[in-house]
Amino acid sequence: MMKLRMYINGEWVDAKSGKTREIVNPANGEVIALSAEGDVDDARQAVQCAREAFDSGIWSELPAAERARYLFAIADKLEQRAEEISRLETLDNGKPLRETAFDVADAAACFRYYAGLATKPDGQTYPVADPVQAMVVREPVGVCGLIVPWNYPLLMGVWKIAPALAAGNTFVFKPSEVTPVTAIKLFEIIEEVGIPKGVANLVLGPGATVGHELAESHLVDKISFTGGIATGRSIMKAAAGNIKKISLELGGKSPNIVFADADFNTAVDYALFGIFANQGQVCSAGSRLLLQDSIHDRFVEKLVERAQKIVVGPGSDPDTEMGPLVSQAHLEKVLHYIELGKAEGARLVCGGNRISANGLGNGYFVEPTIFTETTPSMRIVQEEIFGPVLAVQRFRDEEEAIRLANDTVYGLAGGVFTQDGAKAMRVIRKLRAGITWINCYHPTYNEAPWGGYKQSGIGRGLGTYGYEEYTEVKQINIQLQVQPSGWFRN
Ligand code: NAD
Repeated sequence: MMKLRMYINGEWVDAKSGKTREIVNPANGEVIALSAEGDVDDARQAVQCAREAFDSGIWSELPAAERARYLFAIADKLEQRAEEISRLETLDNGKPLRETAFDVADAAACFRYYAGLATKPDGQTYPVADPVQAMVVREPVGVCGLIVPWNYPLLMGVWKIAPALAAGNTFVFKPSEVTPVTAIKLFEIIEEVGIPKGVANLVLGPGATVGHELAESHLVDKISFTGGIATGRSIMKAAAGNIKKISLELGGKSPNIVFADADFNTAVDYALFGIFANQGQVCSAGSRLLLQDSIHDRFVEKLVERAQKIVVGPGSDPDTEMGPLVSQAHLEKVLHYIELGKAEGARLVCGGNRISANGLGNGYFVEPTIFTETTPSMRIVQEEIFGPVLAVQRFRDEEEAIRLANDTVYGLAGGVFTQDGAKAMRVIRKLRAGITWINCYHPTYNEAPWGGYKQSGIGRGLGTYGYEEYTEVKQINIQLQVQPSGWFRN
């Protein structure tokens, strides 16, 4: 059985309390690892070490090109160990191997992207009125608390760790207590490439104690969080004490709009991919499908036909197209929403059940599920289910599509399918969302900013925008003719 320890100040340590937590394989309910279960004290120690490492300048004052070399080395080692890490991610999270293989490759690419960015121009100069050279430089924010969820355990961490390191920060990373396995592998690599002690710290344990301490500590300068909306609110409050910089990537209930003039097969294909990839446990999932009246019935028929053919099974089986949900607790939440959808009067046209046939009974498997005949006020239309459950909505025209699309508190993502280019652009520009697609759904790139409008978050990850979130901007004014100001007469 794997033993998972925390990495604080360059040492692998157990929780001070000695407590551990069982980590479960969601495909069969078996315990695969014992993880250190840290507490507030462990988080405090990690923060203290990150603080000292930052204040010493050991990382922030290193030339950017040297920091970049470490990041390139991490990317190389992630690739060398890709198969092992992908297998472990599938074991811990449940998603199919082809998805975790993609996640590891993307994590390596993300380190390379930020290694490259570290040495690129980052300032401005200003032609001001006085004989003064005015300029800005970017500097690291300081100590960063990085907290992520379980749906992309490695990748969500890397989206934060890579830019934080590239910009010269030190950090304490807290993965989800449900999926800590691949974080251990990443930190083994961080140790192997020789990142100085105290710069990169890993704490394991619950959000309410360990995560909360990172959000509250006055020694932490910035908190970057990805997770649910309620947790995001709690983090904002905890971060208020020392006016921390905050970046929040929260959930979504994203609309995928299909007009009658769309390429039918392409739209059906992406509607499936939009909701059933990673079992629907994707913040940007196309969890609301908006169909124009005239194609509604034909579209649903084809969608159901294809959804019923999705091969559900253990992620470790190469034939599997959809794996289990991440945990027993999450399974119960998703099944609860399915019951709620029925009780609210939506029509269940596909799935709706836990799967226990074919030896899947001990795992957390749910059928691809589709509801039609929904109304905008239903909870299955308004709330994030974070599972393989699609709510179909019907619209008459462009104006109604836009109104329905924007009618939730979220604003993370959205897609439009139509062969009318001007209409596609009109609709996309009216969507109150940060990540959008025309005639596709889900492709995402390290180069482009990731984040949401409205209650889907604050700030952006990835790309140059994501890098800037790990920097402070300093203006410097240099007098070019050195002389007194003459403001006071004597
Ligand atoms: P969650 O909010 O319960 O937990 C996320 C992380 O926060 C975990 O590490 C958890 O331990 C920690 N946490 C919990 N309570 C905390 C507290 N009070 N203070 C500090 N940290 C705390 O979310 P989850 O159930 O792990 O993940 C699912 C959610 O994540 C969904 O809502 C999904 O939309 C969201 N998500 C968003 C994005 C995005 O980029 N916008 C990406 C992935 C997931």
